Amino acid sequence: MSYPIKAKISEIIKHYITCPYEDCKAEGEEGPGSITHLLDCDTSFGPWYCKKCHRGIFGDIMKGEIFLHFPNERQKEMGMDSSKPSLVLLRLDPLPQSLFLVVKGIMHGDKIDHENNAYYYNEHTCPTNYLQDAEVVIIGKDNDPHGLFEYVKSVPHPGEDVEVHNMDIEELAKLFNIDGAIITGAKELPNNETKFICSPTKEA
Ligand SMILES: [Zn+2]
Repeated sequence: MSYPIKAKISEIIKHYITCPYEDCKAEGEEGPGSITHLLDCDTSFGPWYCKKCHRGIFGDIMKGEIFLHFPNERQKEMGMDSSKPSLVLLRLDPLPQSLFLVVKGIMHGDKIDHENNAYYYNEHTCPTNYLQDAEVVIIGKDNDPHGLFEYVKSVPHPGEDVEVHNMDIEELAKLFNIDGAIITGAKELPNNETKFICSPTKEA
């Protein structure tokens, strides 16, 4: 029989930049971001975008002091004064070699339960779950395969309350305003469609 033990609480302090725009001043997670990992460095950062007002800021850290500046005219022309969340559709073509992922898992005590792992990865879990735990992606001898996914299209994010991970193919196609057959692979990306193709599809 086990008895309940009183929980001890630990506190982790994180340091955040407060949004410097006068009409926003968002703090903490809501603002432009956490500076905790940079406080000991003399470095520059940005553009970081405020989660609340979506405007960009740049910063310089010198001897523990942080100085912020707003985007200059050239940076504004490049759109660095504002941002909005978007969704990006990427495509992975059939590969000549197997693709391997190394993902974070768990083991109980010192025992690895291969049977349970096989069930978990082969049947139970959705790839969306373990892709965010990926440590390494490997194809052949390449453990850093840049350009693995091909850019297809990007659209404004439909909003935090939209459950993109629960959308079916037709809903996703509608969201990206493309033919669902392109997502299922039944239809090739149109070569003459320059609206959303950033690089020409590979020659077969
Ligand atoms: Zn802000």
